[in-house]
Amino acid sequence: MDGIYLLLGSNLGDKRETINQAIKSINSFAPVITKSYIYETAAWGKMDQPSFYNQVILVNSNLNPEDFLQRLQQIEIALGRQRFEKWGERTIDIDILYFGNSLIKLENLSVPHPEIQNRRFTLVPMNEIAPDFVHPIFQTTQAKLLDDCKDNLQVTKTEWK
Ligand code: AMP
Repeated sequence: MDGIYLLLGSNLGDKRETINQAIKSINSFAPVITKSYIYETAAWGKMDQPSFYNQVILVNSNLNPEDFLQRLQQIEIALGRQRFEKWGERTIDIDILYFGNSLIKLENLSVPHPEIQNRRFTLVPMNEIAPDFVHPIFQTTQAKLLDDCKDNLQVTKTEWK
C-alpha cells in the first residue's frame, strides 16, 4: 500500500466546495488518511485572476500510478464539466506530489512532482502534515525544502479543512 500525497487546487467558482467534492470522490477509491488546512494564495502572473485555494492530502492506494492518475483526471473532468461546461474552464487541479518513495518518469507523469521545491503553495500545506517526509530524490525533509524555497508568494492558512 502506497502513501500518496496529492495537491488540490481551485480558483474558479465555489472553490471550497469543489475541493471538498474532489476529496469525497478520491476517498471513494483511495482512503484519505490526513488533510492539511486549505490555504489561500494570490494568483501569480495575472493580477486580475481570483486567488487559489490549495490543500494537500495523504491517501492510501494499491492502484498503479498510471491508473491512479487516470482516476484523478476523471474527477477533474467530472467536476469541471459539472460547473463550467459553457466556458470549459478547469475548476479543479489535482497533482500527484509523491507516490510513496517511487520515482516515476513517464510521458504523462513525473513523480515526485518536479515543481514541489519551487512552490510555497505546495510546501506550506505539505509541511503542515508531513514536515519530516523525505523527498526521495533530494533526500531532504519538507521542512528543509520549505526553509530553502525562494518563492515569496504569500500563502495564508484558512480556517477550513
Ligand atoms: P496541469 O494542466 O498542470 O494540471 O497538467 C496536467 C498534465 O500533467 C496531465 O496531462 C498529466 O499527465 C501531467 N502530469 C505530469 N506529472 C504529473 C503529476 N505528478 N501529477 C499530475 N499530473 C501530472
